[in-house]
Amino acid sequence: AETVRLLSSSQVITSVVSVVKELIENSLDASATTIDIRLENYGFDKIEVRDNGNGIKVADVPVMAIKHFTSKISSSEDLEQLTTYGFRGEALGSICCVSEVLVTTKTADDDISTQYVLDSTGHITSQKPSHLGQGTTVTVLKLFKNLPVRKQFYSTNKKCKEELKKVQDLLVAYGIIKPELRITFVHNKAVLWQKNRVSDHKMACMSVLGTAVMGSMVPFQHRCEDPEINLSGFLPKADSSSSLTSLSSSERSFIFINERPVHQKDILKLIRQYYSVLMQKDSTRLYPVFFMNITVPASAVDVNVTPDKTEVLLHYKESVLFAVENVLKTLYGPLPA
Ligand code: ADP
Ligand code: MG
Repeated sequence: AETVRLLSSSQVITSVVSVVKELIENSLDASATTIDIRLENYGFDKIEVRDNGNGIKVADVPVMAIKHFTSKISSSEDLEQLTTYGFRGEALGSICCVSEVLVTTKTADDDISTQYVLDSTGHITSQKPSHLGQGTTVTVLKLFKNLPVRKQFYSTNKKCKEELKKVQDLLVAYGIIKPELRITFVHNKAVLWQKNRVSDHKMACMSVLGTAVMGSMVPFQHRCEDPEINLSGFLPKADSSSSLTSLSSSERSFIFINERPVHQKDILKLIRQYYSVLMQKDSTRLYPVFFMNITVPASAVDVNVTPDKTEVLLHYKESVLFAVENVLKTLYGPLPA
């Protein structure tokens, strides 16, 4: 049974970035407006995510890290109307299975916060009063202590640095889609990235991409009905002769479906196609900077495809692609025949 647990856990928790992703999604599901992420030794010694969210109810604490417990959905109808990032009740239990976990939490109803120590099966082994304010802090120590091969994968400096970059990219993505969210990212006591609360997506893009890049972008908005699809965001200006928006070194493109950062190769490909004609360059070497916020009915998205939820299945994919193409045609003109 232990081996089975370890195997299934290591599918959800594949890396430092996957731990961070699950923890910040929990913070967002708890309506946090401030999230601090602290890593030590690239996350392998310690990953700590602190939020000012709702906290965990005393009644939920004993089961919070038991696999398949979730406080977020209670019926299969809920699953079709999903508005939270989490729904499987798998993350916390999986993290316990591959590391040592402490959870400190306080709800508005609690007088003080309590720190709980969890074992590898997600059960609480001890608890003590703590001094933290409302919200939840999850501390993950010795990640992959029992998966030496996985740890070995990160034995080089290069791999570690890449992982750190991935964590930052992920935080940047949530920072853009949640303008009102304050994020601080610390590694070995050095602040690597920080974002303040801002009022809207434009300001969020500005703080992430810089004013110069934002100056060469245009906002777009597109709406279709039946199924209801809303597209909005920023794309490079059509007259953009500037290379600011076509950085080929790092990818600065952000696609969100119902506020989830996603990889949608088809959408990315479409944007690059139209953009490359405009720039008269080979699309394989162009990485346009853009932000695309797609909202579709919750029932149209199936996030249950991959354990880490970055690939989502869109039931109206054709309609979404059609809508994206509409935006691109309006902005850049039709593709040459
Ligand atoms: P899921 O997110 O799918 O519900 P998780 O394993 O990620 O499953 O979390 C289990 C439960 O622990 C959640 O349903 C929630 O009740 C509680 N929880 C975890 N992290 C937090 C947090 N930061 N704030 C409030 N509750 C949390
Ligand atoms: Mg979760």
